[in-house]
Amino acid sequence: MANQSDGKPTLRTTKHSRRAFLRLSAWTAAGISFSRDLSWALPKSSLSPQSNRKKVTVLGAGLAGLSAAWELRRAGHNVTILEAQLRPGGRVHTIREGLSDGLYAEAGAGRIPRTHNVTREWVKYFGLELEPFYPTEASQIALLNGRRFKIPPNGDADISGAAFTPHERKIGLLNLDDHYYGDLTKKIGGEIRRDWPSSIAKLADITMADLLRQKGASDEAIRYMLLGFEDDAALDFIRDSVNHHDLSKIKGGNDQLPRAFAAKLSDVIRYGCAVEQIERRENSVQIAYRRAGMLDHVEAEAVVCTIPFGVLRKIPITPEWSPEKRKVIDNLYYGPAERNTYQVSTRYWESEGLNGFGSSDKGFEIWHSTHGKPGRRGVLQAFAYESYAAELDQLSEGDRWDRVIHDMDEVHPGLQPHLETIITKSWTNDPWQRGGYVVYHVGQQNWYPDVCRREGRICFAGEHASGWPGWMQGAITSGIKAAKEITAELV
Ligand SMILES: Cc1cc2nc3c(=O)[nH]c(=O)nc-3n(C[C@H](O)[C@H](O)[C@H](O)COP(=O)(O)OP(=O)(O)OC[C@H]3O[C@@H](n4cnc5c(N)ncnc54)[C@H](O)[C@@H]3O)c2cc1C
Repeated sequence: MANQSDGKPTLRTTKHSRRAFLRLSAWTAAGISFSRDLSWALPKSSLSPQSNRKKVTVLGAGLAGLSAAWELRRAGHNVTILEAQLRPGGRVHTIREGLSDGLYAEAGAGRIPRTHNVTREWVKYFGLELEPFYPTEASQIALLNGRRFKIPPNGDADISGAAFTPHERKIGLLNLDDHYYGDLTKKIGGEIRRDWPSSIAKLADITMADLLRQKGASDEAIRYMLLGFEDDAALDFIRDSVNHHDLSKIKGGNDQLPRAFAAKLSDVIRYGCAVEQIERRENSVQIAYRRAGMLDHVEAEAVVCTIPFGVLRKIPITPEWSPEKRKVIDNLYYGPAERNTYQVSTRYWESEGLNGFGSSDKGFEIWHSTHGKPGRRGVLQAFAYESYAAELDQLSEGDRWDRVIHDMDEVHPGLQPHLETIITKSWTNDPWQRGGYVVYHVGQQNWYPDVCRREGRICFAGEHASGWPGWMQGAITSGIKAAKEITAELV
């Protein structure tokens, strides 16, 4: 709410971006229930052993491939996973190397929402512990049009001087999302559905920025609410925003989740095996892969393909994919995402009463990975996305460092004297990813069934082929679903 008592408009929110915000608005506080039954994807629900066992090859050892292999093996199938890299987990990757004092930080998946019960149950199953992602004490910074707004724990901040409309000032920034699209979040929910009514489905045909404009939002409010995600289809933006509350992380690093799966599957994973060609035969699929420079083959009766479409589009296949599948493989949009991790000798921002978190309207949010951890050395991360990340991806290392140091310094001034290293992870420049995660742009939401649909003996899994694109829960559920599809339809 706006605090008018001292005549100043107030900012009552803590973090505000599409991919991570501590939203204290009414619709979150009211709670959104996810009643869809996902018990089939929980650890206790496994397939009963099949008498007709098949030889199944899984492409990729990210969470989708690992969960698919897990379920397939429990059903008694003969499973092999081909993974191009020498580690499991794909986009769940905790940076440890290159940081001092045993510090770590996430290069990819960072947060687990309270509502992602499938992810949380698997975390529990493997004996891992969750801890809060965001602090509840000290202030954070929001950089808007070059100005720093300090946001205290109670959310009240002086935003006089920012170019909001008088009405937006009156309702307060905390309530902007709720004011402009809170009613829609309740109708849309956090998962893609095929049965949205037409009044909701039509939101796939308009950008979020245009929807907000139609609803009377000022340019300043749009910039503040969207932080770089202006081109997202409104439907996708709002659906995804529902997932961004009550966020946790795995104590000790999120990579422990895929590593726990992989430890149990180590006899079926072949690391360093990059799939180069797929050939569909009458009763089998032949996969050609390169390992240690040599070409090898594996033949399977069924395949689970979790390779991100940005990579899959370059892999030759015979006979050709169906036209519908080819269209989505070639055109599905992966949002650029880059994470810059800064190790500093001291948590210098604390002297200003800050918790290290923040955001910049240039298109990044700031995480503080060492928050609540002992020691004076600290790790900040800039999570850059969309056009800002795409610009950084094009720069040489020297130019990128200059730019990211400058832009981080605007939010937390005083970085340079304390800076010990920067580690950059660009998901677009990663040859095994070619992008961060799927974001549906205008007119693309109806591609979803074609993304997921089986092509003969090849089933599809991965965050892209799930109701939760861009989330670990999407990867896990899609993997288990593909395993069930193989047993139900191909055995
Ligand atoms: C920057 C970023 C932030 C994120 N934040 C969150 C978050 O806060 N919370 C959350 O839940 N999720 C988050 N996610 C999403 C989450 O990481 C993904 O949804 C999930 O990890 C995807 O799993 P996957 O198995 O579908 O794909 P991947 O993890 O990408 O696995 C695919 C695997 O295929 C392999 N591969 C690729 N090409 C080949 C080939 N030719 N041959 C063999 N193997 C190949 C890759 O090496 C990889 O291991 C984030 C992702 C990114 C990038």
